[in-house]
Order: sequence, then C-alpha cells, then structure tokens
Amino acid sequence: MRVRLLEATEDPEELVCRGARNDYMSDWVGDQSFEDAMAGVDGDTIEEQKANFLGKLLKRGHYGPFEHPSATFAIEGMSRSCMAQLTRHRHASFDVQSMRYVAFDDVDPADVEDGEMVVTPPSATDAEWVGRNQQGGQADEDVVERREEVFQSSVRRAVEDYQELLDLGMPPEDARFVLPIGTEVNVVVTLNPRSLMHIADMRAAADAQWEIRDLTEQLLDLAAEWCPHTFDYYDEHMKHRKNRLAP
Ligand SMILES: Cc1cc2nc3c(=O)[nH]c(=O)nc-3n(C[C@H](O)[C@H](O)[C@H](O)COP(=O)(O)OP(=O)(O)OC[C@H]3O[C@@H](n4cnc5c(N)ncnc54)[C@H](O)[C@@H]3O)c2cc1C
Repeated sequence: MRVRLLEATEDPEELVCRGARNDYMSDWVGDQSFEDAMAGVDGDTIEEQKANFLGKLLKRGHYGPFEHPSATFAIEGMSRSCMAQLTRHRHASFDVQSMRYVAFDDVDPADVEDGEMVVTPPSATDAEWVGRNQQGGQADEDVVERREEVFQSSVRRAVEDYQELLDLGMPPEDARFVLPIGTEVNVVVTLNPRSLMHIADMRAAADAQWEIRDLTEQLLDLAAEWCPHTFDYYDEHMKHRKNRLAP
C-alpha cells in the first residue's frame, strides 16, 4: 500500500493557533498579524510560541481548533476489508475507486499470486507472524506453505471466474461479487488533524488489524511533516491512548 499527500492547508498550525487565539482575545483575529495574535504566548521565537501553544491546547483537550486545517491523501492498493474499516470514521471525506466502472479485465491471474490485485496478509506467508492479540502466533513452515497455496489458488480462481463472467457479458458491477474482500482499491481521503488523531487513537492501537495500522502509521508520518508540532506532541504524549479525542 502506498500513501501520498495530495493537497493540504498551507500553514495549518498557524491556522489552528489563530482559531484558538480568537477565543481568548478581545481584538478581532481577522485584523491581526500572526505575531500580534500570538503576543503573550511563551517562547522566544514564533515557532517556539506555536509549539508551546499547540501543546497546551492538546494537553487541555481543547481539540476544536484542530478541525480548521485539512489534508487530502491518496491511498493506493488497500484491501476492501481495510477500506471498510477506514470508512467507518464519519468525520473524513472519501472517494473510492469504483468496481462498477473499473474492471480488472487486463490483470493476469498469474500475477495475482505475486500480490497484484489482491492484498496478501502476512499470516499467509510468514511463519513468524503474530497478529493482533497474539492471534495466530508461530506456525510450522509446512503449515504456512499450505496456507499460502490455499490462499493463492483461491484468489487466482476468484479472479479467473470474475474475468470469465466479464467475458460472458456480465456487467462489472455484478461480476465483482465473486471477488475476495482482499481485492485492492484506491481511495482518496480528506481529514483534519483532530479526526486523524482520533483515527490513530483507534487504528494505531495494538488491537487494530495490521493493514489499517500500517495505513495509519503512514498517514501519521505524512501528517508529522505537515503539522510537525501537533503530531510530535501527539506521538510523544498521546499516541496509544485509546479513544480519548472523542467527547
Ligand atoms: C479494534 C477495533 C475493532 C472493531 N470491531 C468492529 C466490529 O466488529 N464491528 C463494527 O461494526 N465495528 C467495529 N469497529 C469499528 C468501531 O466500532 C467504530 O465504528 C469505528 O472505529 C468508528 O469510530 P468512532 O465510533 O469513534 O466514530 P467516528 O466516525 O470516527 O467519529 C468520531 C467520534 O465522533 C462521535 N460521533 C460520530 N458520530 C456520532 C453519532 N452518530 N452519535 C454520537 N457520536 C458520534 C463519537 O464520539 C466518535 O467517537 C472496530 C474498531 C476497532 C478499532
């Protein structure tokens, strides 16, 4: 799975600070320079002031201002299973690649066994893999070899059947019913920092599935470049708490 930042609010942390400073000033923030709006906040430089102020907001649980900026990410090759988990989060906006209009008719079923079109979970190939809540645990090599065989022959057969149904004139929107839940999909998602922190609270946690954890970590890495003070603070002080950002 690949994740890329497509577009994001410029100066997102300045925007968060401006929003929050509005709450504590008699002057109108619309008329003020950023430096004036931050007057009185601890710190020798404007960056230090931003870091201190954002940390204070997060510490107090004043999360509303973190809803002002937004970032749009493009995700390539997530499973439909993972997509179902991500799209449960109602404060994000999505575009999902359509299987009504995109038919995987040119995929070679032989390539499916090399990981094209269907996501292969690590437990299908890795004897050492330990899933969430220690599910699975270590397995014998020959057991895992057999898992891989069963998994790959099953997805290959599904893709072959799907393509045969297309050849028989079945519309892609109906032929797709035979495809597995691991079928890859590309998604575009727009989030604000508050909703990303909430998603991370739930989906970077040890009991979340490996694929959405991987996705969340990639989103957090990109978000740390976009909103460095916010996500540094989140990483240091808040990550791995569960479900705290929601009221
Ligand atoms: C490890 C794990 C296992 C899971 N297993 C299952 C499962 O087996 N079956 C299943 O169905 N789901 C499952 N979920 C999904 C989970 O129950 C949530 O639906 C999903 O994570 C969305 O998160 P959220 O409820 O915080 O809502 P979000 O949409 O992310 O909203 C954020 C917050 O906004 C508030 N909010 C949003 N909408 C409303 C509303 N309508 N009313 C009141 N408050 C609202 C809530 O405070 C909420 O926490 C699982 C999640 C995890 C992390």
